[in-house]
This record gives sequence, structure tokens and C-alpha cells, in this order.
Amino acid sequence: MTPLHINPEQFRVRPGTDVKLDEWSTSSTGGYTGDKQTAPDVLAALNERLADLQQMLYAESAHKFLIVMQGMDTSGKDGTIKHVFRTINPVGVKVANFKRPNDVELAHDYLWRVHGQTPRKGHMTIFNRSHYEDVLVVRVNELAPKQIWERRFEHIRNFEQMLVDEGTTIVKLFLHISKDEQRARLQERIDNPAKHWKFEHGDITERSHWDSYTEAYEQAIGETSTKHAPWYVVPADKKWYRNLVVSQLLIDKLDALEMCYPEPEIGIENIVVND
Ligand code: AMP
Ligand code: MG
Repeated sequence: MTPLHINPEQFRVRPGTDVKLDEWSTSSTGGYTGDKQTAPDVLAALNERLADLQQMLYAESAHKFLIVMQGMDTSGKDGTIKHVFRTINPVGVKVANFKRPNDVELAHDYLWRVHGQTPRKGHMTIFNRSHYEDVLVVRVNELAPKQIWERRFEHIRNFEQMLVDEGTTIVKLFLHISKDEQRARLQERIDNPAKHWKFEHGDITERSHWDSYTEAYEQAIGETSTKHAPWYVVPADKKWYRNLVVSQLLIDKLDALEMCYPEPEIGIENIVVND
């Protein structure tokens, strides 16, 4: 734990938990001893640490690192990516955005488009939405019948287990906001012309399904928070705290890999580079 007590582990969903999202805070700062005023400096220090670790991930080229980011509309998926990864060398990082599947994607199984985006050795990939949409939006909007989406939890557990067995670290983040916070953020998208591009009419319809999404998320998180691919329910009403928790969590996961720079080529110590 850091001196300021950013402790992401408290937000991990233990395997077999019956998840009730109203029991998980959207606004807690989980024992953190700093405040909003000092958060930018703390985040800057975490950003630097994360950049160093990502450089080692890339240099060592032994591990694959996958971050799955989910949350209700306006929960801050884009904002988290922007703030947490801002110092990272783009060479080794990719953001994979999963939107409505196109015709080709729909003609395949639902994991087809996902597997192709998983990280290679030395790389970090952030899934901005993911295969979980296939048990969330698909369920809520009845894009597939229950017997189809219900068996996907097992597919997903097995798929993720396979990725882990083959050397991928998986961290799954549910950015947890309150319904009231979503109202405020949607209103801001309507009122602020600079944010109009983020708003679609469909967002209001989706909001009306809040309870169905909550139920779908509860089951999805409960069914798929495993030892090897755990979910973290990150309180996300306070953006500054969300950024600190996600940064610290990724640092902790990368630290646990005990990476090191590869050995230099033999005999380079006496080489002098001539004009
Ligand atoms: P946004 O995240 O605002 O760019 O919106 C992306 C949209 O794509 C969301 O409304 C998602 O629910 C939708 N989406 C993502 N994956 C799927 C999927 N597998 N099936 C249907 N809709 C999806
Ligand atoms: Mg949207």
C-alpha cells in the first residue's frame, strides 16, 4: 500500500460473490488519506511509475497485459484511459473500442472480433467495452434469447482462463457510478456544446433500462470474477479518486510480474562507437 493508502484490493470481487451493486459504493474514497486538491500531484507520480513499468513490460517482452473496461454510459471509460495512460509510450499500448458489431462480426461467433484484439507479448491492450457487451446490451435489449447469452458466462470464463494460461494478465474494471451521477453527466453532454458529440438519443433510452443493466452487470461480474481474471468495482463518481485507484491497481499488477530488463548482448561493455 502507498503512504496515502490507495488500496485497490478492497474493490476486488472475490470468486463466488453474489454481487449486489448497491452494496458497493460509487463515491467512497476507501480509506484514502489525501484529497481532491492534492490528487493531480499524486496522479502525476503514479503516471510516471506506470510509464516505467510499461517500458519494462515492452523491453522484457515476456508478458501480455489486458485491461477490460466496462461501465454504464458516462461512467468514465474514455476519461480513465485519457488520464491514467497519458504518460505511456504509445508504441506498446493499444485501445480496442468495441462498438456495435458490423455485419462481418455478426456473421462470426461473438468472441471472434475480441480474440484478434488481445495483446501480444510485451504489449498492453485496453478494451474499451468488450466481450461483456454480449451478456449486457445483448441481454438488456434482447438481441439474443436467454438460452444464448446465459451459456456465454462459461465461454467467457474459459476464454479468459486460456488467455491467462498462455501468459496474459487480465484486470477487469467496472467503473461504478450512481444513477444520479449519470443524470448529471448526461445533462452536461446536452448543455455543453463541446460535449455534444458524445451524446446520442439512444443514451436516454439506455438510461431507462438502468435497473436491467444493473441486474445484467451483477450477474456478469458474479459469474466471471475468477481468481485469474478478477473484477474490480471501482467507485467512479469522483473522477479524481477513480484515476488514482485504477493507476495504483495497474502498478500493483505490473509490479507483481517481477519484470526485469533483458540481459544485454555479451561483450558490449568495451564497444566504442566511432565517428
Ligand atoms: P460508445 O461506448 O458510447 O461509443 O457506444 C458503443 C455502443 O456499442 C454502446 O451502445 C454499446 O452497447 C454498443 N455495443 C458494443 N458491443 C456491442 C455488442 N456486442 N452488441 C451490441 N451492441 C454493442
Ligand atoms: Mg456513448
